[in-house]
Amino acid sequence: MIELVQITKQFQGQTVVQPLSLSIREGEFLTLLGPSGCGKTTILRMIAGFENPTEGQIWLAGQDVTQQPANQRDLNLVFQHYALFPHMTVADNIAFGLKMKKLSKSEIKKRVDEAVAMTQLAAFTGRYPHQLSGGQQQRVAIARAIANKPKVLLLDEPLGALDLQLRKSLQSELKHLQRTLGITFVYVTHDQEEAMMLSDRIVIMNGGRVEQIGTPREIYASPKTLFAATFVGENNIFSAPEGLFAVRPEKLIPLPQGDSRARRAGVIQDIQYLGNVHKLVVQLDQEPMKVTLALDLSQEHLYDIGDSIGLSWNDADQVVIGP
Ligand code: ATP
Repeated sequence: MIELVQITKQFQGQTVVQPLSLSIREGEFLTLLGPSGCGKTTILRMIAGFENPTEGQIWLAGQDVTQQPANQRDLNLVFQHYALFPHMTVADNIAFGLKMKKLSKSEIKKRVDEAVAMTQLAAFTGRYPHQLSGGQQQRVAIARAIANKPKVLLLDEPLGALDLQLRKSLQSELKHLQRTLGITFVYVTHDQEEAMMLSDRIVIMNGGRVEQIGTPREIYASPKTLFAATFVGENNIFSAPEGLFAVRPEKLIPLPQGDSRARRAGVIQDIQYLGNVHKLVVQLDQEPMKVTLALDLSQEHLYDIGDSIGLSWNDADQVVIGP
């Protein structure tokens, strides 16, 4: 559906997107994930046609659109700030783009009704944006985008301005909507949990470079770089003569002090209660670092702060992440 071929972007001679090639499949939910300033929005804007790549090509549904202006590309954008028309009702906001396209009145009504039903806005169609909550306004922005029936929907931190609970409920709605409609979603977020929950595949970006592309499962189980290993989920990074490797907290196995199977030894510095698990924070003896282990609740009473323990893990859970 979308093919990025060695695209780069420079602003005033400074490279903010390093050469990037990526194929996004029809109906895929693809997320660009990374810290602020890593180039996510710039990539989205290049796909949309608001920025031209400095080098490379962009293909959309089999067509080279690199030189095509934004309004001729068959896609829609949803931003963090809803950009609704304040003087129009919800229904008119959703219908606006359809009127611009000069669709028939009956077709406009049909599409508005569908979009309103899918985004659970039926009770609000006569209201103005200032009479809606942030979550409702964002639903209107999403309804407006899907009423256009684009092949591709680009979403730039669409839930970024919402509180946690609302964010969670809209995440589920978005995922459901995307599955139902079969539209290709390209989604930008800096929230790794959101990316894990929503995406078919994640592109992890850092400083304009792709660190890793993979399914949430691949990225969690087999991070390829130090950045990927620590940006998505918690991880423990160990150094060995041949380089670095990572072991997830739930893969570390505590052992009694002096147990010959221990690969490392240390002292428990903190015990954190997290509801479903307890975490032990362990200061290692031989390395100036702390590691975290996740324990199920039944094991918690076995440990106290100040205890010396050994640590082990299975070879299969040790992920090499380079030199
Ligand atoms: P955020 O999560 O904060 O939105 P981002 O990952 O989306 O960050 P971009 O907005 O793509 O990052 O910005 C990438 C880099 O490009 C930043 O260093 C930014 O300052 C720079 N940049 C973006 N737009 C322009 C512009 N029009 N002119 C100059 N520099 C720009």
